[in-house]
Amino acid sequence: MNPVARLDHAHVWHPFTQMRDWLRREPIVLVDGRGATVRDLHGRRYLDANASIWTNLHGHRHPRMDAAVRAQLRKVAHTSALGLANEPASRLAARLVALANPPRRDPSPAPPLRKVFYSDDGSTGMEAALKLAYEFRRRIHGPRPAPRFLSLGGAYHGDTIGAVSLGHIDRFHAAFRGLIFRTDRAMAPFCYRCPHNRAKPERADARTHRQCRWECVDSVGRQLERATRAGRPYAAFVFEPRLQGAAGMVPQPEGWLPRVAERVRSHGAQLIADEVMTGFGRTNAGQDPHLFASVGAGVQPDYLVVAKGLTGGYLPMAATLTTDAVFDAFLGEYSEFKSFFHGHSYTANQLGAAAALASIGLLTAPGARPGRDRLARAFAGALAPLWESPWVGDIRREGLVAGIELVRDWRRRTPFDPAEQVGIRVTEAMARRGVLTRPVGDVLVLMPPYCTTVRELQRMAGVMREAIDEVLGTAG
Ligand code: PLP
Repeated sequence: MNPVARLDHAHVWHPFTQMRDWLRREPIVLVDGRGATVRDLHGRRYLDANASIWTNLHGHRHPRMDAAVRAQLRKVAHTSALGLANEPASRLAARLVALANPPRRDPSPAPPLRKVFYSDDGSTGMEAALKLAYEFRRRIHGPRPAPRFLSLGGAYHGDTIGAVSLGHIDRFHAAFRGLIFRTDRAMAPFCYRCPHNRAKPERADARTHRQCRWECVDSVGRQLERATRAGRPYAAFVFEPRLQGAAGMVPQPEGWLPRVAERVRSHGAQLIADEVMTGFGRTNAGQDPHLFASVGAGVQPDYLVVAKGLTGGYLPMAATLTTDAVFDAFLGEYSEFKSFFHGHSYTANQLGAAAALASIGLLTAPGARPGRDRLARAFAGALAPLWESPWVGDIRREGLVAGIELVRDWRRRTPFDPAEQVGIRVTEAMARRGVLTRPVGDVLVLMPPYCTTVRELQRMAGVMREAIDEVLGTAG
């Protein structure tokens, strides 16, 4: 085993990893990258097919990104935001506000998002939104009843305690039940596994075969109604717009979000949009020109949380955008102690903000959006042959992200026994062929950096098919 791998095995504890399994194998040690490719210390090249856990947008060592970080390094890497301002973070806040409030033909019924609270990653960005919403509710409506939150079945919003409380994935969250606070679970619009979907279980795009009467929207409506009638209304509804990532890449049918948002608003609750994965054009390729999925769906949340792609995958940084109304609720005399008592040492980090500005510059450059649209169309084409595999139950793609769900029986949509670790085994077989990704259970994820070429996309999908055949055989 090489010396780096030996050190890793001796000392590094990896996230979301059964370390007993990890210690049985020599790990892949990555040393450099360029574009959609990364290289290990033996010189082997791999395609980064999940954009380094959903963070990377423009590829590795992008010249403009590298130059922006280098230019900032010549000035200063980090200064504190506690009591001090800095240029890149101030300019970035203005840029984010402009992106979150594009000019509209019809004025939005909701107030604009004009304030930006920085933190470090998706979890801390969500934690800030949660605490702001909690405290806002108490300040406007009084401390009783205690503010309550509603989030979607299958939700994942991060691993800090507040974010875990908002989550509804038992495998991740059940162990911490004694540590977290209770939130209610709303029915997620998961058409492929929806008991109300009367479409025949054919293996064509399950979403376009949706036949229902929006029972999932009514279910959320009833939940809101019950809470209001019981005198314990929800403070906020928390959601990923357009696509729930860790739930298994679960897309929302067109029209779901505006319908639910309207009901939430009518019950006086706020909206917290978690765009940690969906933001920065990841899900919006196609007709929609917006970089945020909620904006594209025509829904103005009270809190919009971004992280992951914010810095183009270069540095950890998050931002929680909110309205003047929320900001104003924290204003007062010093002696009233109404400040938001929350923050981190690296808040508004200058290097991160410089990387984010460069990334947004690339995303909004002329030709960038048509380029992403072309890539999304090529992506759909590259994925289509996977339907021929007897083990592929569903292919769920939004823009430049896709989940390919493997099932034991596609006609009945029967899942594999989790103990079989089918998703993990297939992605290990993909890694042996030079394509890196990480599954969500038995949903194989493809999330290419935007610089990926059409040939590279085809290779990602082709290698996936070979790996499925290797692990499960060619006959269903
Ligand atoms: N929210 C969503 C939707 C995510 O997908 C994730 C991570 O995957 C998080 C929050 C947490 O982000 P982080 O891992 O940066 O803390």
